[in-house]
Amino acid sequence: MSHEPVKFDLPTLFQELEPSLAAFEKNFPLAEFAQANYQQHPFATLLTCCDSRVSPNMLGDTFNRVFCVENIGNQFRNSEGSVLYGLLHLHTPLMLVAGHSECGAIKAAVSDYAAEPDALIKELNTVKDSLQQGCTASKIDLAAASSDQAQLAQLNVDTQVEILLKHPDVRQLVDKQELVVIGLLVDLHNVFGEGYGRVYTVNVNGVKDVDAIKAKDDIGGFTARARRLP
Ligand SMILES: [Zn+2]
Repeated sequence: MSHEPVKFDLPTLFQELEPSLAAFEKNFPLAEFAQANYQQHPFATLLTCCDSRVSPNMLGDTFNRVFCVENIGNQFRNSEGSVLYGLLHLHTPLMLVAGHSECGAIKAAVSDYAAEPDALIKELNTVKDSLQQGCTASKIDLAAASSDQAQLAQLNVDTQVEILLKHPDVRQLVDKQELVVIGLLVDLHNVFGEGYGRVYTVNVNGVKDVDAIKAKDDIGGFTARARRLP
């Protein structure tokens, strides 16, 4: 489960970070911020894996637009309060769940993680439970599916959407058409064969059928991105 450590040259890193901080300050969108009365008005609550290769920037500029909740394996139950804050208090009309190919949390969850620290075990137990739930729903054996990481990532996204929709407050928002829950799979590794870093719509409000998603005319560009691993 551990990664090869990469040796960073910290003095160089700090030097390189400074222009980024300065650019953030220089480009701070004060006019828009003031217009919003210095409040936050994100349009999307994004639950994504904290994998550094999955960037919330895929939704464009994130400032005051994306309420981002990140944890390993993009688990609703490991950050339930934060997600609900975005939906019930910030009233974002979009709830996006983004999983990705070669997810380390999924790999860990289907391996032996008993020697990890308690807090990590707790979060991985949730990931494993989500995978189990997804496999049961799709009548797949988790042990047999463990080698297909992208497939598990897709099932994991489905499970998160399902759990979200079972929450009474979330369900009510969806039923009132005040919220759309969209499951995405970020194909970092070109598993679909259409290129590295493509974003696919795999689930909309619990609908997983690709043709049914493609028939939707109210989710903009997410419609054309409908595609699932078989
Ligand atoms: Zn991940």
